[in-house]
Amino acid sequence: MKNNIDWNNLGFGYMKTDWRYFSNYKNGSWDEGHLTIDENIVLNECACVLQYAQTCFEGLKAYRTVDDKVVCFRPDMNAKRMADTAERLEMPPFPQDRFVEAVCSVVKKNVDWVPPFGSGATLYIRPYMFGSDAIMGVKPANEYQFRVFTSPVGPYFKGGAKPITLRIPDFDRAAPLGTGHVKAGLNYAMSLHAIVDAHKKGFNENMYLDSGTRTKIEETGGANIIFVTKDGKVVTPKSNTILPSITRRSLMYVAEHYLGLNTEEREVYKEELNDFAECALCGTAAVLSPVGKIYDHGVEINLPSGMEKMGEITHKLYETLTGIQMGKIEPPEGWIKVIC
Ligand SMILES: *Cc1c(COP(=O)(O)O)cnc(C)c1O
Repeated sequence: MKNNIDWNNLGFGYMKTDWRYFSNYKNGSWDEGHLTIDENIVLNECACVLQYAQTCFEGLKAYRTVDDKVVCFRPDMNAKRMADTAERLEMPPFPQDRFVEAVCSVVKKNVDWVPPFGSGATLYIRPYMFGSDAIMGVKPANEYQFRVFTSPVGPYFKGGAKPITLRIPDFDRAAPLGTGHVKAGLNYAMSLHAIVDAHKKGFNENMYLDSGTRTKIEETGGANIIFVTKDGKVVTPKSNTILPSITRRSLMYVAEHYLGLNTEEREVYKEELNDFAECALCGTAAVLSPVGKIYDHGVEINLPSGMEKMGEITHKLYETLTGIQMGKIEPPEGWIKVIC
């Protein structure tokens, strides 16, 4: 392990590691791919990604387990989701088995950068691809690059997960037949104004509504949402315009099969917000972050779980899923990919 890093005090930011992977697509096929130490990319000034934002990405983590193995969590799901995103953006999907191989090879090469078990830190893995040749008229690129880099990151919320405050914004995230269900960079570019505005006004995140009717809860800019009802059922919004979070799908499985809870994926109306006992955001970065308060145009909704700690069921879900990721709890078949 690298000995000049303070693993216990890492933030959530980019740190250059030794190796990264790239593969180029040209004349209708992907080349064999390479590992490199060069973190820079040289692009034509008119590259499609620069002019028309033809780019998409994924995010997953490698963990050091209790028995000192290095593993990653369901990388096949990221491979599949990136292929789905690529098709929506008219990009050639990167073969899914090669996606998993590339992720594993970069982690293995950077194994000294995987933080120690118990530090709370992990190695974040960022696969992404973009249209790389010069495109002037609006059309898809002819050439693409797929890349994977890694960066050690601390826990998303330092000092434990304190409940956060969301606001319902006057901005939409995803059009009814748009790109909300795919992990495209463009979804993030247009969310930046809303997030800066939320922060200026003292809120942690935006809780977006469906833009078709503005009556239903969707997700935040970068995380799905789960609710717990007063009788202990785990509920998550169903919609075609939210990003299918792997963390959320895993948590719903854990709720049902490990904790014996009832679960429901259904439309969740804004009117129901007062009825829930707990609420949390879920995604790879933080796993689960509890929500204490939701602000809706002058009306405050205070979750009964309060502003001090995670709700009881949220906490159980958190402990179980992170226990599976860290090798402390037997995983469902196929969830843990051992890298070395
Ligand atoms: C990446 C992402 C998530 C979280 O997905 P995970 O697979 O759990 O990391 C949720 N919402 C949006 C909009 C995202 O881009």
